[in-house]
Amino acid sequence: MLRVSEGRSTIVAVRRFATVSEVEALESFRRDNPLCKEKFSSVIGDYDFDEPVGCCVQNPSGNLCRERHKRGWVALLNDGTSTYLGGRCAKSKFDADTVLRKSIATYQNAARRRTRLNRLYELHAERSQRVAAARRSDELLSAIRERVEQSVVGLGPKILGRLRHSAAMGTTPVYADLISVKKYIDEDGSPQQERTVVLRVIGTLAGLGLLTEGPYLSTRAMIRKVVNAFAQVELLGDRAKTSEIEALAAQMDSQSQVDIRLNELEDLESQFERNDWSLLWLLSSDHGEQKKAARFALAKSGEGAGLDRIKSWLSAEGRRHAIAHGADRIALK
Ligand SMILES: [Zn+2]
Repeated sequence: MLRVSEGRSTIVAVRRFATVSEVEALESFRRDNPLCKEKFSSVIGDYDFDEPVGCCVQNPSGNLCRERHKRGWVALLNDGTSTYLGGRCAKSKFDADTVLRKSIATYQNAARRRTRLNRLYELHAERSQRVAAARRSDELLSAIRERVEQSVVGLGPKILGRLRHSAAMGTTPVYADLISVKKYIDEDGSPQQERTVVLRVIGTLAGLGLLTEGPYLSTRAMIRKVVNAFAQVELLGDRAKTSEIEALAAQMDSQSQVDIRLNELEDLESQFERNDWSLLWLLSSDHGEQKKAARFALAKSGEGAGLDRIKSWLSAEGRRHAIAHGADRIALK
């Protein structure tokens, strides 16, 4: 059971009238009952009709305003009878009146609290399903992380370190120096060569941020917020502020944001899985790491490879990139 209730505002009965007959069924209601500041006691409800009703504010001349409003207040008079007070007239003709203004404000606050509380009770009633959904999200998140970590097993620490260091959620360029050598005979007739080195983007890798803590920590914090909100709501006292109730209900209801985030991470994971793993060896000039990266790339394409195959693959890849960029060879940073 929740302890939080309507609190002090229970002294104001919140009642919304949706039809004329609901108001006219009130024992206190009198048709064409004139309302003036001196006779006003309190607001006992608000109305929101499809058809407008005539306002019963009494003009100085003694006539009723009769302006037709679809929205307004049901006002209680000092003599115990009730009448219509049009929404616009309440503002334009009574705004200077503190008693009426206070009464409307109190009523509106009570109505707001009632709405927020209703939402809180609804959410609390779905507690077990909602907490279970949050916990399922936590398992999905752990599974993404586990798959991503498993998928890079076999890479050396340097290349893996560079992948983790990039931390980008978007794409990360992979660079290499491309070397061209132009041979020529100089004015003295001796052979010379001119070497040019250009840094080029060879390809890109996507979703490397999944190799870092960041996305998991922030998503887990979102999940924890949902679960914690369901624990906190039990602690809400009778006098909890309406703003607290509203904030807590928003947290209890924030699973949809978790779902959106998990979808984003799953999209990112599929981009990550589709990466061109043949680029990884370009991330280190360490031969041991390059060989591991070559074995890794070959394994990703379903090929188990011995050392000879790895060596020939590396030199073929180097040549392939050099040719693709019109250079003689590739050199790594
Ligand atoms: Zn009026």
